[in-house]
Amino acid sequence: MTHIDCLIIGAGAAGLMCAAHAAARGARILVIDHARAPGEKIRISGGGRCNFTNLQAGPDNYLSENPHFAKSALARYTQWDFLDLIGRHGIAWHEKTLGQLFCDGKATQVVDMLLAEMRRTGADLRLGISAGAIDHGDGVFRVSLSSGEILHSTTLVLATGGKSIPKMGATDFALRIARQFGHRITETRPALVPFTLNGPALAGLKPLAGLSTPVRATTAATSFDEAMLITHRGLSGPAMLQLSSYWREGQEIAINLLPGQQAQSALRDLKTTAGRKSVSNALTALLPARLAAHVAARAGLTCNMADLGARDLDHLASTLTDWRLTPAGTEGYRTAEVMLGGISTEGLEARTMESRHIPGLYAIGEAVDVTGWLGGYNFQWAWSSGWAAGTAIADR
Ligand code: FAD
Repeated sequence: MTHIDCLIIGAGAAGLMCAAHAAARGARILVIDHARAPGEKIRISGGGRCNFTNLQAGPDNYLSENPHFAKSALARYTQWDFLDLIGRHGIAWHEKTLGQLFCDGKATQVVDMLLAEMRRTGADLRLGISAGAIDHGDGVFRVSLSSGEILHSTTLVLATGGKSIPKMGATDFALRIARQFGHRITETRPALVPFTLNGPALAGLKPLAGLSTPVRATTAATSFDEAMLITHRGLSGPAMLQLSSYWREGQEIAINLLPGQQAQSALRDLKTTAGRKSVSNALTALLPARLAAHVAARAGLTCNMADLGARDLDHLASTLTDWRLTPAGTEGYRTAEVMLGGISTEGLEARTMESRHIPGLYAIGEAVDVTGWLGGYNFQWAWSSGWAAGTAIADR
C-alpha cells in the first residue's frame, strides 16, 4: 500500500495541466493513464498542429446545463495565461481563423510542454495503468490499480475525459465513479460530429462528395457561419460539426449557401450580366460548379437566367438560402471530437472543481458537463478547469 497526496486519473489535457499545478508546493502527485503515451488527443488534435485555444474564448462558447458554471475557471485561467505558458516554452504559433490558435510545428510540442511543467514541479506519471474499484472513508481514497497495488490518496482527480473516439482509449470511467459518489450525470451524446444522411437526401448529394463551401447552418435557432463539407455519408466541415452540438434527432437543419449576401439582388444582377447562360452555368459565379448544377436541378430550372420571372427568382433565392435537410443521425462517438454533457456541474464547486458531496474529489475537463464549440474552446476548458483544480489542491 502506498500513500500519496493526490492521484490524477487521466494524463490528457486537463489531467496534465492539473498535475503541473497541484504539485507546486512539493506534494506527492501521481498521474496514471491506461494509454501507452500521455496526451494522445492533444497529439492528433487540429490536424496534428493542436488548436490549443481561442482568442475569443468566453463562457458564451460553451454548452452546459448551467451556462454560468464555466465562468469562474475561464476567468481565472484565461487563453492569455495559456498563451503566456506557450510563449515561455518557445512554441511558435499562429492564428488560423476566427481566433483559433495553432502550433506552427507539431502538436506534440504542447504535450512536451505539459510534461516539462509536471517534471518541474515533481509530479510522477505512470502509463499503461488503469484504476479499478475506488472507495472513500476516513478522508482517504483507496484505489485498486491494474498493477495489483492499492493506492491511498488524500485527493482524487477524475480527468479521464469523455466517450469520444473509444478506439483511442476513451471510457466513461469518470462518469461511473462520479455516479458512485452521488453525482448526477447529465445526458451525454456525441458532439462536434459529422451528420449522416440516408435515402434520397444522401443519394442526391453523393455526386457532390468532397465539396466544401461556406454556409450559414441553422438548427434549433442556433446558426454558425463556417464551411460545410459534403461527404460520402452526409455533411461535415466546421459548420456542421458546430451544429451537431445543438441538433437533436428528427430536427431539420437549414443551410444558406450564400451567407452574408443578398440572394435576391445577387440573382437579379446575374439575370442582367449572365442572362444568356443557363441557370446552372450562371450560378457558378456564386457557387462551386457541381453545387451550382445541384441547386439548379433542385429548383427544377433548366432555362436561361434571362427567362426567369419574379416568382422563379424568388424560388431560386429560397432554394439557395433555405435548403432544408433532416439528418438520419450522426457518426457517433467513433468520430465525434467531444462528448456533450457529463458530470453535472450542480455537484461541483465552480472555483475549484471540487465535489460538493465528497471532500477531496475533483472532476475536470471533458468529463464535466461543459462542452466547447469547435475552435480551441475545449482545450481552453481543459486548461482552465485543470488549473482551477490543481491550484486548489496545492492550496489545501
Ligand atoms: P482527454 O484529453 O481525452 O484525456 C483523458 C485521458 O484519460 C486519456 O489520456 C485516456 O487515455 C485516459 N483514460 C480514459 N479512461 C481511463 C481509465 N479508465 N483509466 C485510465 N486512464 C483513462 N479540442 C480543441 O480545443 N482543439 C482541437 O484542435 C481539438 N481537436 C480534436 C481532434 C480530435 C480528433 C478529437 C477527438 C478531439 C479534439 N479536441 C480538440 C477535443 C479535445 O481533444 C478534448 O476536449 C480534450 O482532450 C479533453 O481533455 P481531457 O483531459 O478532459 O480528456
